[in-house]
Order: sequence, then C-alpha cells, then structure tokens
Amino acid sequence: MAFEKRLVLPGERVGVIEEFIFKEGLWANRRGEIIAKKVGTVNYELRRHEVALRPLKRDARPKTGDIVLAAVRELQDRVMWCDILGVAGIKKALRYSGAILRTSKLLDFNVGDLVLAKVVDDTFGTYTLSVEGKELGLVLGFCDFCGRTLADRVNVLHCNSCRRTFRKKVSIQYRNFGKLLFMFPVETMTQVT
Ligand SMILES: [Zn+2]
Repeated sequence: MAFEKRLVLPGERVGVIEEFIFKEGLWANRRGEIIAKKVGTVNYELRRHEVALRPLKRDARPKTGDIVLAAVRELQDRVMWCDILGVAGIKKALRYSGAILRTSKLLDFNVGDLVLAKVVDDTFGTYTLSVEGKELGLVLGFCDFCGRTLADRVNVLHCNSCRRTFRKKVSIQYRNFGKLLFMFPVETMTQVT
C-alpha cells in the first residue's frame, strides 16, 4: 500500500527523519523524531518517503472523511443506527444520525455501545459510517447478556461478570478515554435523550 493514514495528537511521534521527509504540520526534535504539531491525520506516502499532517477542520457539520464518535441507537437486520455525539476537530456538533451497514458478524454491536467511525458518505443528510481500519470500531462495548462494560483482551472482549467472550470490531482506542476525551471534549458533545 502506497498510502497510510493515522490519527494523531500534538506531540505524538509519527516517524524518524531517516525514514521520512516531513512536510506541513510536523517538526523534528533533536533526536530525529518527527512530531505532530496539531490534532489531525498523518498521511504517509510510503513510496516517496513523505509524511504530512492534515489538521482536523473546524466546521459546522460532519463531512465525508470526518472521524466521529457515535452511540448505537437501534439495531436492524442490516443496519445499525447511531447518534453522532461528536465530530473530531469540530467545536460543537449538532445532533446527527449515522448508519453502519452490518456486513459482518463482528459488527453485532449493542444499543448504547460507543463507536469511533469515519463518515464515508453524506448524501441526503444520512451519514454512512465505516469502522474499517485499526483506529476505528468499538471504543466502549457492553455485554450482550448482562449489560456490563466489556474488558478488552487480546483479540476478544470479555465480560468479567458472565465470563463470556465476544468477537467484535474493536478500535485500538478501546477504553482509551484520555485520547477520546481529547478528540471529543465533553463540552462539544451532543446530548442523547
Ligand atoms: Zn455479561
């Protein structure tokens, strides 16, 4: 793959100068580490050994390509309806609805689960969300049986109460509340009623 993308926070190391020529939004420290200046997406152009940071935009409504935090509201056979609680990089998000297509057993989420997703389509005011990629997927999941918070073990989610395990599409940010609250500060979030 010639391109790679990843979400970063200011101060996060994105590579070393021996490997990459760094472009906008990045700087290098004395140890030769390339560091992000802002919250954004780093784009690696692997063939050209270039890395650049695209800051997350501050805008009024979610757009294709935006990263959102969503809560699952309703499950249907082929679609999971979600409430978009926050859009990374946007000060105040209004309430929007999103849909995740249930194309795999790994997408058997529960109502109330929190998901980090990307807007892949925004025609007609309906946001189609995708959880493809390591960064995206469940960030907080609840047990199918007892409703307790699931713990993240290697490749599976585990309920400490029923001792059941679940295989679901999990984000590498699962329960990483520090990073999630940085990306989606509480005061910018939409209340779900
Ligand atoms: Zn349980």
